[in-house]
Amino acid sequence: MKPWLEIDLDAILSNYKIIKEYVKSDLIPVIKSNAYGMGLIPVANALKDVANLIAIGDIEEAQTLRRSGFEGNLLLIVPIFSREEAELCVEYNVFTAIDSFDMASFLSDIAKKSGKTVGVHVKVDIGMHRFGVKPEELDNFIKQISYLPNIQLMGIFSHFPLGLNLITEEQLILFDRISEKYKNLIVHLPNSQNTVENFESLKFIPRCGLLIYGAMPSDVKSFVLKNVVKLKANIVKIHDISAGQSWSYGYSYTAHKDSKIAVISIGYADGLKRALSNKWSAKVKGSICPLRGTINMNFSFVDITGVDNVRVGDEAILLDEDLKIEDMAKTIDTVPHEILVSFRESMKRIYV
Ligand SMILES: *Cc1c(COP(=O)(O)O)cnc(C)c1O
Repeated sequence: MKPWLEIDLDAILSNYKIIKEYVKSDLIPVIKSNAYGMGLIPVANALKDVANLIAIGDIEEAQTLRRSGFEGNLLLIVPIFSREEAELCVEYNVFTAIDSFDMASFLSDIAKKSGKTVGVHVKVDIGMHRFGVKPEELDNFIKQISYLPNIQLMGIFSHFPLGLNLITEEQLILFDRISEKYKNLIVHLPNSQNTVENFESLKFIPRCGLLIYGAMPSDVKSFVLKNVVKLKANIVKIHDISAGQSWSYGYSYTAHKDSKIAVISIGYADGLKRALSNKWSAKVKGSICPLRGTINMNFSFVDITGVDNVRVGDEAILLDEDLKIEDMAKTIDTVPHEILVSFRESMKRIYV
């Protein structure tokens, strides 16, 4: 009895439409890292009729998608690092981020040999200091690559390291100026957090990952999203525990009254973080029941005292519309993104 994820692809599609309605512009969904753990191919296909451009995080994702028959427009949002990656971009018809002249030359060279043209989006670094051309070098960079054959400049983008409230006026003005100059191109900028926190001050196309998967990146709630994912496990054993007894490794919890404790088939090897021990809950027969005792590698313990008719084999739900990804993330001091991508890759994903 292994835990599983139930993923609602219609909810992903609805969320895409809800966000798009809110921003009133185009919207680039981000499906890197196996679509935040939700499954690259199913998610790409769920979005293919609505999204003009879908963002991926590495070229292998393009390979997987193309081999599955996916024909939609893909944009690699990480600048390529090698000639091999440039070759794959050309082979799989992927638009790519670019921030180095050498890589642009490789692309041009390979594209020319294949008789193709590659679309590129120039990444500008306005403060993240991870990738991107320096703003003061941008004009020159664009001029240089414009001389390269078989490369088509399609877009300009950047990525914020901060929520909008902390982004400096200078950073915004800087990007405004850049976009003003290149307004014939596709200009994209906000991530999920920027989109919910203060979209009005950004006129650019957002690239959203987290929001598509139904999780909010901050407490600002500009719109209501549909729940996408449910994490479920089965009850595999039920114990009667007397007041004063403890259980699981380290005896981290002691019953203060006679209790019923259920063992469920999910642990930290599956992605249920051990730090959630004694801090999270599971829904059993519609009741929210606390996790008590230390989470094991493959099992955890739920206090089902007072819940009627619970039997071995019943479901325990660890994430759904009430037990939210955002709250789980807050509980262990991380971002919801990390929760989503932490489920074992081999975990069964059921699409509903
Ligand atoms: C991951 C990523 C995004 C999406 O971030 P979310 O917080 O999930 O919306 C956008 N842009 C870039 C460059 C990214 O790497």
